[in-house]
Amino acid sequence: MVTIDSLHGVNAKVIEQLDKLNIHTIYDMLFYLPLRYEDRTKIKQLADLQVGDNTMVEGTIQAAEVKYGKKRSLICMLEDGTGTIALRFFHFYPAQREALKPGTKLRCSGEVRQGYHCLELVHPQYEPLDYSNLSPDLAEHLTPIYRTNSKLSQTVFYSLIDQIFAKYEIIDYIPEILRSKLNLLSLQEAVQILHHPTPEIAPSLTDENHPARIRLAFEELLAHHLSIYSLRANSNKHNAANLDNAGILVQALLAQLSFKLTAAQELVITEINSDLRSTNPMQRLLQGDVGSGKTIVAAISALQAIESGYQVAVMAPTELLSEQHTRTFTQWLEPLGIKVTWLTGSLTKKKREQTLAIILAGQVSLVIGTHALFQKDVEFHKLGLVIIDEQHRFGVHQRLALRNKGNQDGVYPHQLIMTATPIPRTLAMTAYADLDTSIIDELPPGRTPVTTVVMPNTRRSEVVERIKNVCTNEARQAYWVCPLIEESETLQLQAAEETATKLQESLPELQIGLVHGRMKSKEKEQVMDAFITKEIHLLVATTVIEVGVDIPNSSLMIIENAERLGLSQLHQLRGRVGRGAIQSYCVLLYQQPLSEVAKSRLGIIRDNHDGFVIAQHDLDIRGPGEVLGTKQKGVMNLRVADVRRDKDLLNDVVEIGKIIFNDYPEQCQALIERWVKESLHYGEV
Ligand code: ADP
Ligand code: MG
Repeated sequence: MVTIDSLHGVNAKVIEQLDKLNIHTIYDMLFYLPLRYEDRTKIKQLADLQVGDNTMVEGTIQAAEVKYGKKRSLICMLEDGTGTIALRFFHFYPAQREALKPGTKLRCSGEVRQGYHCLELVHPQYEPLDYSNLSPDLAEHLTPIYRTNSKLSQTVFYSLIDQIFAKYEIIDYIPEILRSKLNLLSLQEAVQILHHPTPEIAPSLTDENHPARIRLAFEELLAHHLSIYSLRANSNKHNAANLDNAGILVQALLAQLSFKLTAAQELVITEINSDLRSTNPMQRLLQGDVGSGKTIVAAISALQAIESGYQVAVMAPTELLSEQHTRTFTQWLEPLGIKVTWLTGSLTKKKREQTLAIILAGQVSLVIGTHALFQKDVEFHKLGLVIIDEQHRFGVHQRLALRNKGNQDGVYPHQLIMTATPIPRTLAMTAYADLDTSIIDELPPGRTPVTTVVMPNTRRSEVVERIKNVCTNEARQAYWVCPLIEESETLQLQAAEETATKLQESLPELQIGLVHGRMKSKEKEQVMDAFITKEIHLLVATTVIEVGVDIPNSSLMIIENAERLGLSQLHQLRGRVGRGAIQSYCVLLYQQPLSEVAKSRLGIIRDNHDGFVIAQHDLDIRGPGEVLGTKQKGVMNLRVADVRRDKDLLNDVVEIGKIIFNDYPEQCQALIERWVKESLHYGEV
């Protein structure tokens, strides 16, 4: 692929700036679309100007003076025989004043605004016209304006684009026959229109569904889809651990369970079991709303691997959750004679070495931990199944990187990926195209929906009364969550500590515990144990308890500053209560004043209990990066497309994707390389 430094004028400084915009190849440049356009193809008469025009005018400066209003500014009155307009500069140099003195002829362009007395151009681009009054040539097409920083001027972009158009053939990897089927423009036409539009098509360009933009959006979505789809196809060529067995351990576990599986759980277990018996590695996403009972499904899958003599790794996003899983799995599996180990970051060096040794020797069947499980020094004896809980916290890249771990002599472990954050279908088709999906679509019987109330934090004292009542008269327990206020863990911590102290003052009769992310895991464990054994009535926590924590006796949750949290996060937090049959409550406290948007978001949580519905709202409000929890990690970093706006393209993307993958392997590879930089990091596929 042609790199950008093959073009003229691209020196080290320019490369550095382009790098910040993620422009490395000529295609990156072509896919970097203008923010807007200015019309410098004709000169407009001043008398015809209207507010909002992006226009070019010519005239003579009649007067220039510095005005001292709220802000000092240089004002020049420009006149062309039909009318006048003011040019306003808030920043100017002495040399500029000199260049803009009365009598100077100028050509200027910019956006027309309504000033105090007359129309204005604020900080217009301008060039002096020669005394001979020969106008410089007018542009042939609209002038694109690119998003940039002060270090990179528009002229650099113009030069790059011009050179690319002049020197290089723009290769279209979507075959003509498929293009015409979908009525897509050629790539050449599309980029030409977007970077050098003629004045006639200018008005239609503001339409987001302009065929030129659609063409690029389609290609981009296609490339992302293909990158993940081909990973899946490749992993289908791998051999998987053979986990075919009689299921004696599973029967034994079911016999000792205190509850009966729901029909939805039974169904997904059947799906998983048939995958595990296949000769290809399972890649299955298990979606199930908060509290739907995914953990027992994970345990049953684990037993199928263990019965065949393989090890199982269970990865959780937080230490707190991995500790809870250790407790749950130990309780379920140890009676069957199966050894469970917790591998946490906080083990002493000696203990860690011992643990690693027994894992390598195969003396333990089930290993639970955070992502620390996949550090280099962790070697398994015979890994057959990897279970990833609350996958939305990990991100697609991490998940894909894990694929190749645990490959022994060409045998790959199966993967079960669990999430409570439902992935809307449109996203699943692109970011998760490599996975099969199972859904637990019912909750265990006897659950009562959590009653949610929204109130300003000025009504705190009522809430405190309510806690007292719940914890003493009803012998239930409660959570008080203090979310991130600033982007600082230390501040969050302070807030949580202060809250705990204040609550203790108002509720001297209760035992109050505190748990946060900075605590050592031993301390966390002690607090959680005390909460489980009901020594602690009220647990003040940061959002560390967001995922997975399962303590059925708690029936009240208070979330402070709820307006600052995302919808899916609120839903997750609320899922910590309502885990038993008792009526549970969730109080969303907010800080006044509350914006309209914030109000409607809290309303969505109050009125909805279905995680899928909530996730759809979340997607509409915040966009896919946030919903996937992977914004920082650059997954689905789309340049042109927008999964919400372009969702109607997705069916075609999937259909064409299949054809390109099967019949045009070279084009498939080229499309991925051109658009999806992350694909380079997925490692061997
Ligand atoms: P999540 O899907 O959010 O991970 P968990 O696996 O933590 O949910 O399950 C929530 C609670 O429901 C746990 O206490 C679990 O033991 C219980 N549970 C799971 N399945 C059933 C069932 N079929 N009937 C009754 N309770 C169940
Ligand atoms: Mg869970």
